[in-house]
Amino acid sequence: VVPGTRTEPQTAASVAKTTTEPTGDPPAADPLAWLADHAWSREVAGLRRRLRPRTLTPAADGSQVRVDLASNDYLGLGRHPAIVEGAARALREWGTGSTGSRLVTGTTALHGELEAALADHVGFAGALVFSSGYTANLGCLTGLAGPGDLIVSDALNHASIVDACRLSRARVAITPHGDVAAVTAALAAGGWRRALVVTESVFSADGDAAPLAELHATARAHGAVLVVDEAHGLGVVGPAGRGALAAAGLAGQPDVVATVTLSKALGGQGGAVLGTAAVREHLIDTARAFIFDTGLAPASVGGALAALTHLRAHPELPAAVRRRAGELAALTGAPRPAGAVVSVLVGEPEPAVAAAATCLAHGVAVGCFRPPTVPAGTSRLRLAARADLSDADLTLATEAFAAAGVLAAEVPAR
Ligand code: PMP
Repeated sequence: VVPGTRTEPQTAASVAKTTTEPTGDPPAADPLAWLADHAWSREVAGLRRRLRPRTLTPAADGSQVRVDLASNDYLGLGRHPAIVEGAARALREWGTGSTGSRLVTGTTALHGELEAALADHVGFAGALVFSSGYTANLGCLTGLAGPGDLIVSDALNHASIVDACRLSRARVAITPHGDVAAVTAALAAGGWRRALVVTESVFSADGDAAPLAELHATARAHGAVLVVDEAHGLGVVGPAGRGALAAAGLAGQPDVVATVTLSKALGGQGGAVLGTAAVREHLIDTARAFIFDTGLAPASVGGALAALTHLRAHPELPAAVRRRAGELAALTGAPRPAGAVVSVLVGEPEPAVAAAATCLAHGVAVGCFRPPTVPAGTSRLRLAARADLSDADLTLATEAFAAAGVLAAEVPAR
């Protein structure tokens, strides 16, 4: 209590008095009137974000998505009968929700099974499942870093990593994209108790790969931990889709921690942090995004388990999606992708939106990234390859890219 102030116990009568008596003040101006101005300025800049519900049948105007290059369902598992059945079985057995936080009633035997399967597949001793990849990043970075610590974060890291850095209250050094020398300089400057180096393995917007071996070498040399977001690596990169860390021989190293999402190659929903058993135990004990969040729904757990089983039975799928990504890059003249994501630079937001609309009118759904999701002047089409694309799909995509003006000058013969 501030000295000089007086507190009075609130009784039912005092609450009723304050809430029912008119104050006599004139009505305040609408305190949310600024929202309309804000929306208008975003509209005129061509940046307004809108929801466009996905349809499974032709839309009212007769248009229909025939080729989906916009979703993150890289392996086409999201509607695969075996994965849907895995989710349905868990749903029937456990019900629609997990009923509580993981520490209270939200952990089922299935959660443990999924954690064991993920740890085994990605190559770590332990895994902890979160309700999303976003909360996995929040829990991981806030659990492993705090005031007095340093997080060195790549300038193009995903928003969930950016938010996690802010929430950690550690000092954050943002280094130019892929610049290992800048990471080394940030670590060498000292002044920290503990340090993390955090990067995506395959970048979500540009589709390029992080220099994991070099980042690990400098992190290790300075006694820092390397944290790698494998959201776009799991199921796409590395042997049998084990991820970029496995490909680099870094999975399971004691000074490496990974985060994953279950919502991209695995076709479902949820996320996880992977590391040593001690990392897992520490996050269970301290990560607020884990402790105060309702556990992942059983259907999502069952679906992800079935997707992992399917991936193990079909180790050819990751190579198939990477091959299709390479073909999409060749068609559009985009840089060679490290995984499934192909980034076709357009420049300004309006022509990017127009190109995406033209593709859609030709039955090809593509992503369109504009500021602030990507830096100004780098609006682009984002094409996500899928393992289940057919040659006919690629032909249709070629026609759409030509109409949208994003077909490469020299298209390789297929
Ligand atoms: N990290 C990266 C790199 C991502 O692209 C995403 C998904 N947009 C996330 C984390 C968040 O994962 P989720 O969608 O499961 O919350």
